[in-house]
Amino acid sequence: MAQLTALLSVYDKTNLLDLAKGLSEAGVRLLGSGGTAKQIRAAGIEISDVSDITKAPEMLGGRVKTLHPAVHGGILARSIPSDEADLAAQSISPISIVVCNLYPFTSTIAKPDCTLSDAVEEIDIGGVTLLRAAAKNHARVVVLSDPSDYAPFLSAWAEGKGDVGQGLRSSLALKAFEMTARYDEAISGYFREQYASAEKGDELVGPVQRMVLRYGANPHQKPAQTYVTEGEIPFKVLSGSPGYINLLDALNSWALVKELQEALNLPAAASFKHVSPAGAAVGIELDDAEKQVYGVEDLKEPLTPLACAYARARGADRMSSFGDFIAISAPCDLATAKIISREVSDGIIAPGYSPEALEVLKKKKAGKYCILQMDPAYVPSEVETRQVYGIHLQQRRNDAKIGPELFTNVVTQNTSLTKEALTDLTLATLALKYTQSNSVAYAKNGAIIGLGAGQQSRVHCTRLAGSKADNWWLRHHPRVRALPFKKGTKRADKANAIDLFVGGEVLEGGERAQWEALFEGVPQALSEQERREWAAQLDGVACSSDAFFPFPDNVHRAKRSGVRYLAAPSGSVMDAECVKAADEHGIVFAHTSLRLFHH
Ligand code: 5GP
Repeated sequence: MAQLTALLSVYDKTNLLDLAKGLSEAGVRLLGSGGTAKQIRAAGIEISDVSDITKAPEMLGGRVKTLHPAVHGGILARSIPSDEADLAAQSISPISIVVCNLYPFTSTIAKPDCTLSDAVEEIDIGGVTLLRAAAKNHARVVVLSDPSDYAPFLSAWAEGKGDVGQGLRSSLALKAFEMTARYDEAISGYFREQYASAEKGDELVGPVQRMVLRYGANPHQKPAQTYVTEGEIPFKVLSGSPGYINLLDALNSWALVKELQEALNLPAAASFKHVSPAGAAVGIELDDAEKQVYGVEDLKEPLTPLACAYARARGADRMSSFGDFIAISAPCDLATAKIISREVSDGIIAPGYSPEALEVLKKKKAGKYCILQMDPAYVPSEVETRQVYGIHLQQRRNDAKIGPELFTNVVTQNTSLTKEALTDLTLATLALKYTQSNSVAYAKNGAIIGLGAGQQSRVHCTRLAGSKADNWWLRHHPRVRALPFKKGTKRADKANAIDLFVGGEVLEGGERAQWEALFEGVPQALSEQERREWAAQLDGVACSSDAFFPFPDNVHRAKRSGVRYLAAPSGSVMDAECVKAADEHGIVFAHTSLRLFHH
């Protein structure tokens, strides 16, 4: 067998001499770049310089060492006659083993005093080319990119009498490509920081691809950033500075309102907290009682359809919406901004803002209110990847379309789904698509009125959402609407006091005194009978579940909160029992075949 050649060019010289010795003893001819060859030679092992075969000296201060046809022809040549003839014509010997690791770009840029030119000089060019060429030609060439692989490689070499086998060559090639990919990612990350960060402001000539975030999910999780690797970040920050959780809320809520508007052809709004909707709604007009319940009866501006959507989204569960992140599907108008201006909120995402609306919103939080303008034409890529505990998870994005046509498979005796019911079922189901699972949502009049998120037991979701819907309905009770609040009571204090009242909480001591102090006269608690009679009047509620009902208890519980329309995927061994329960209550139950877990 002709003598084999190994090319060695390593920055990290760990284990290098052991490898060189092993190869040399096995009769392999060694070739090395400047520093690598020097160290091996100093250990008394015979090695030639790469310049001996390139007949060209290293140049440009080391920028060009191995970039030469004599090297890359030798690596890339296949074991086929035409390639062998090409090598022979140029007097190039094939190279069978490439040993290479790269300049330490990541640790260089981590140094506090690293300048841009230091970083640029640390970008390895020839080494990456060696690794990629050898890895590409792994049908013939062995590529060693990690010093911890040298010893196992030598053992495999000895065992295979000079042939380590295709399996090892393939896995080493994969490792080399993973390494060059990580290396390039570090470089592009650094360039993004230097050349495409929103913080750099006017210096930018290209698209904004990166923004620094104050911190991650918690203040100690620093640094934090958001970035795209293609195109540009599809939103602009018009005011404030978004945090990590703001963006989780903003992007999920934007997706929800965009899809709601597309599905129902009505402006939509969502009020998010901790990456689940506290409310979501479409722009259906409010009657006087609803205006009062949602706290917009005193608004001077007439309510636009968009303002109706936000009033409903914000007003359904006023306590949960405290400090919300808002998404609206259409450009923000003055009426909507006026509602927002009175509420405690963290930020908003919208496809645009009228000048007057923007002026109102910019005044919130002493000018720190987070205002994002979303590009409505943005379409996310089909595949999404995230990392959990260092491990990548990848999936096709949940791009399932949800609209009224999802509810055609009605499995109960009662099959009459009204147009309003279809709107509410679509709304409830779409909200679940962007709610942390398990989840169940109740909707009425184009608004979510109760949502149970993130519960491990389905019936707990159904109960939680049901009790929220019950409270929402009790807030419509004439005695609740007439609660004699003292003039000047803060909106959030009112919301909390009403919640205690409708929740039937028994207050004592200081808490009771504080609560009573909000009123002109102490309100009489609602009696059990009043509650029962009022609850019996709630009807026509739609309810959707993000996965099948495992037991009919969910159906019975939903009924107690006025549910007449139900949607859930089929697939439970108890499906028939659940349908039977729905029939018992005259509920219209549509089986979908769409599970909607979201995490
Ligand atoms: P040495 O210590 O042998 O002088 O250099 C080894 C380093 O040079 C390795 O990290 C290798 O990736 C890198 N290298 C090999 N060829 C070239 C080249 O042509 N240009 C540049 N910039 N780096 C190279």
